[in-house]
Formats: sequence, structure tokens, C-alpha cells
Amino acid sequence: MTHRILSIALDTPLDTEFDYRWIAGEADAVVPVVGQFALVPFGRREVVGLIIAVKESSDYQPEKIRDVIAVRTALAPLSPEWIALCRFAADYYQRPLGEVALPCVPKKLRDPQPTALERALKKPAALRSDSDIDVSRPTLNEQQQAAVDAITATLGYGAHLLFGVTGSGKTEVYLHAAEALIKREQAHGRAAQVLLLVPEINLTPQLEASVRARFPALHVATLHSQLAEGERLRHWIAAHQGRAAIVLGTRLAVLASMPDLKLIVVDEEHDPSYKQQEGLRYSARDLAVWRARQLGIPVVLGSATPSVESWQHAGSGRYQKLALTQRASTHARLPRVGLIDMQHHKAPEGLSPPLVAALRERLARGEQSLLFLNRRGYAPVIHCDACGWISNCRRCTAFMVLHKPERRLRCHHCSLEMRIPAACPTCGNVDLQPLGRGTQRVEEHLQQLFPEARVLRIDADSTRRKGSAQAAFDAVHRGEVDILLGTQMVAKGHDFRRLTLVGVINPDTALFSQDYRAGERLFAQLMQVAGRAGRAGLADHQPQSEVLIQTRYPQHPMFRALLAHDYEGFARDTLTERRAAGLPPFVFQALLRAEAKTLEAALEFLQQARELLPHDGITMNDPVPMTITRVANVERAQLLLESASRPQLQAFLREWMPALRELKSRLRWSLEVDPVDI
Ligand code: ADP
Ligand code: ZN
Ligand code: ZN
Repeated sequence: MTHRILSIALDTPLDTEFDYRWIAGEADAVVPVVGQFALVPFGRREVVGLIIAVKESSDYQPEKIRDVIAVRTALAPLSPEWIALCRFAADYYQRPLGEVALPCVPKKLRDPQPTALERALKKPAALRSDSDIDVSRPTLNEQQQAAVDAITATLGYGAHLLFGVTGSGKTEVYLHAAEALIKREQAHGRAAQVLLLVPEINLTPQLEASVRARFPALHVATLHSQLAEGERLRHWIAAHQGRAAIVLGTRLAVLASMPDLKLIVVDEEHDPSYKQQEGLRYSARDLAVWRARQLGIPVVLGSATPSVESWQHAGSGRYQKLALTQRASTHARLPRVGLIDMQHHKAPEGLSPPLVAALRERLARGEQSLLFLNRRGYAPVIHCDACGWISNCRRCTAFMVLHKPERRLRCHHCSLEMRIPAACPTCGNVDLQPLGRGTQRVEEHLQQLFPEARVLRIDADSTRRKGSAQAAFDAVHRGEVDILLGTQMVAKGHDFRRLTLVGVINPDTALFSQDYRAGERLFAQLMQVAGRAGRAGLADHQPQSEVLIQTRYPQHPMFRALLAHDYEGFARDTLTERRAAGLPPFVFQALLRAEAKTLEAALEFLQQARELLPHDGITMNDPVPMTITRVANVERAQLLLESASRPQLQAFLREWMPALRELKSRLRWSLEVDPVDI
């Protein structure tokens, strides 16, 4: 009787692969192959794992080896390249292979019951687009054409940084490059797939629409966390079977199985949402570049404000820089950026007189305005003037935020909620005051100032219901909104055509943050939000679009770069500072975090970890409490490791991780390689 030993990766923190015995059920049963899923017993449960080796024998004692329950033969096996990608991610980010390979496939594929899979295979996703959308395709300008040529000219691996100002038509470059590569493969009778990664899919419905409109004959699959599980399974299968020529997805899609992958695009490559912040803490952008190199295909990283890491690579020649320096629409010009010095203006409700005047002008002309304030809620805190009481969260080192429409205080860290107290809990004073302002408060003020204007607020609170963000943005596009107000949700990629004024309300806190990346993030955000203005071509007699930024620090170098639309100067200065300070990308970092009931316990664990192994060439900093030390009654601390050499850091981590697991500490800890929030 035929039998084999299958090595199977399972989704467990145990860093090992598990051997199981497979015995042919019938005379003609097909021997399983690497890349198939199998249902196996694990402890008292039955779980689905991934076959990563098929062997004649095992090193374990035969009586310890349990039998495979079933092999999922209906689905084509995952490719060796895909497994190698997962293995790379697992090694680099210091996780077991199973914890990488299994969570990144749809849940329903890992279901012990194969019914969902069978159903999905029988009734595949309907991926073809409706044909009634407009398929206008502008002729590329010279710079766009040069970019497309450069991307498609390389046979084999090539990493391109598409550095294009906001509104320069980067999307057209992606679409043309995709089309050219798909046609080229088709001409040789080969299939081709393109992976298009975007930071947040619900904020980029326009991109999805243009992709579908541009390729009416092709299947477009989407992969993101908001898909219902059944849909996600169908779309994943379409990608895996090569039926979907284009896969549009968020960061998790970088690990999609795509057997005919020929091009990867990472749109807005600087966006922080490419970094997964829990479980496998990976950078989808970095994995995209690795995957392109592995497969020998081009990868395009697009941004108006590239991450300084990518800018550094473009400078050193590792990436090829492709520049789009002008706005694509005829007559569209970059907006004029001005600063409003808040040392000289009173703004009791957050809006200075010059900004109010600019808003009034737009209302009179029937044009749209956008106000950006990266703080949701009504006020970040309420307090008592009489005794100094302040609305702290009792579970976190953070404030309870006032949400006035809901009449509640809410902690944005642990989600604790309570009714607004009628009087001060310590002294009984009934006159509690909100301090500072969030989007709800500015909205209220705008309605008082301009009762006739149509004001719309877009933030995480106003868009909780599924589809409500989409509906809100649609209303803006239809011109049903005069003043749009929102958090970073409104800053991203939207192509608003009627917008001529952008106001930035309070960017200053990020200027002096402890986080060394805060400046880079703020600059990118402001460039992005400023880029929403003046995107359509206006007639000659119309005034130029305007961006007005309220700040108390108009002399700050970041603002000077912003006024001049000078990303390059900003990036140069930032890199110089980082080099001098010994910060990434000039050093490589890893961060060990610990969570415990007491801060002492967390710090003690980190101290123990620090002294565990000799660490030549690695700087181990002192364990310190995290900035927000307590969240939901858990104390958090961290230990930062640095090295001038990535391989050296990697080699150390490979020894350190098993030693840390050996400690068998009861507290929760996690390691992040290339951390972004430290
Ligand atoms: P980006 O992503 O670089 O900010 P988009 O791709 O959104 O810019 O393009 C901005 C606008 O310019 C879109 O409305 C797009 O249709 C238009 N556009 C792009 N390329 C051209 C072109 N070659 N000629 C005219 N309009 C173009
Ligand atoms: Zn009081
Ligand atoms: Zn809290």
C-alpha cells in the first residue's frame, strides 16, 4: 500500500513543521504534492495546513506520527515560488512559516469543512465589468510615455520609483504599462497577471472603476479585508487559477497566489498602511520588491512623496527614478501654498479670519473647499476649570475624547465609553469645558458661520456604516457639498474636480513629535491634501487654487519646502539628518515589545532578553516604557535593537528568537523588524 510522510506547516507559534502519514485510500489514489492543503489532527482539533514536503520517511518515531485526514485535491497546488515568498517573509520577520502562509489565504480555505471551497470552485466569482462605463483614454504626455517605456523595456527584474507630483497622471502610467505587458505576453501565447496594490481600497473607488473600465475584456479581482469571506475566497481562487488578469488589493494582496504574475504596482508607496501592525508585521512594499526580484519582473513604486527609504534607493541606483513633474490635465496647475501665522491671528473656534474669508470667496463662486484636521471627535479632552480635573481614561495613559453628537466620552485606544458627566466627578462643578478641537467641533462652527453652506464631515466616526464613506465621496464628486471637512481619510488619492481651496487647521503637534518619522509623515500628508486642490483645468481668468495652512511655526523648514512644492529638498534634508543621527535608512532596527500587568514585569522581561546572548555589532538600547504606556490596563514597554548591517541584525535575530521562546515567559511579547512606530 502506498504511503508517504507529509511535512505540514500549521498556523501555530511553534516554529516547526509537522510530519503526518498519508496512506492511499484506494488503489489509484494520487500521491499528494507540495503546495496542497491538507486536513490533519492537531491536539484535539482538526486543522488545515499546507504541505511543504512529501517524504518517504520521518525522523520521528512511527507511533508518534498521526494520519492525514484528507488532502484538498480540488484546488491546484500553490507554487514553489509562492511558498518561497512566504518562507522569505517568515525568515525575515522572524515568524514560523505556518503563521505566514496560512493566515494570508482566505479563512474559508482553512475551514475543516470543504463545503465553502467546493461551492466556490463550482460557482466562480463573476469578475467581468459592466460595459457601460466611460472608457476615455487620454494620450500620454511625453513624461508619462517615457515612464511606460522604461517600465516595459526591462525584461526581467527592475524596480522603478515613479515620482510624480499630485495629479500628474500616475494611474495612466500604471494602466498603460499593465496593458503593454499583458499584450506582449498574449502575443507570445502566454498568460499574464498584474498586481496593483493600493493603501486603502474604500478610499480609492475611482481607481477600481478606471481599471475595470480600461480592461473590459479582462477579469479584475479585488482582495481586501472588507470583502465578505465568501467573496474573498472566490477572488483569491480567481487569482490563484490565473483567471483574474488584474488583482487590485491592499497590503495583504502582496501574498496572493498569482501564477502568471508579470508586473507589480505599489501606488502611494510611502503610505503607512502598507505596514501591517499586528501578527506578521510586514511591509507590503518591501515584500513586493522582493517578489518582483524573485520572479524577474518589473515593480513600480508610485508616489508624489516617496518614503525616504525609497528615495535613498533611487539615489543610489537600486531603483530607477521616473519623474512626472507636471499635472496631466490641460491647464491644471499646482495650487499656491500659503501659511497663516497663528501667532498673529485669533481663532477662538479654530478658523482664522483669512481662512474664513477664503472659504467665503469659494462659497460665493460656487467652488468646493476642503478642510483638513487630523483629529476626530469634538474635543480631545474635557476639563474642570475649578479643580483641574481632566477626562483621563481609567484604563489607559490617554484622554477620553468628547464625542458631542453621540453625547459620549470615548477612549480611542481601548474603546471605553461613558456618558458625558453632568458635573465634575471631583468637585461637582457643572461647567465642564471642552479643550482643543476635533472635526465635530469645527463642523459645528462651520454650520454657524455659513448656515447656507452644505458642510460634510468625513472621518472614522461619520463613516462607520459599510458603504457610507463611498456615498459621502460620491456626494462630493456630484458637487452636492460646498465644504468638505475631514481627517486623513480625505487627504488620500481622490481626484476631486471642483475643489479650489484646501485649508489645514492644526498640523503643529506633529512638528515636535518624539517619533522621528512624524515629520516625514506630516510632509507627505500635507502634500497629499494640498494635491486635492486645482486638479481640473480651470479657465485662464480663474484665480489659481489655494492651500492655506494655519501654523504657529511658519519658519519651520518643513513648511518652506512645502511652499515651494519641494519634495526633493525636503527628502535631502531629512536624509542628511537621519544619517547624522544614525537613524533608518542608515541603520537597521528591530523592536521587541512586552506587555504585562505591571510595568516592572514588562521591563524586567526586556532586561532579561537584553542579556540573553552576546551581541557583537548590535546596539541594544535600554528597555523603556512605550509612549502610551498603558492601554486597556496593560502596561507596555519596548527594547530597540540597532545595527549598521542588516545581515548581522538578521543573524542575531535568528539566534535570539529561539532563546526568547525558551524563556517561556508568561507575558505577551512580539518582535517587529523594521519597525515604523517607535
Ligand atoms: P496622480 O495619481 O498622479 O495624482 P491621476 O492619475 O489621478 O494623478 O491623474 C490626474 C488627472 O489627470 C486624472 O483626471 C486623469 O484622468 C488625468 N490625466 C492623466 N493623464 C492624462 C493625460 N495624458 N492627458 C490628460 N489628462 C490626463
Ligand atoms: Zn472639578
Ligand atoms: Zn482607554
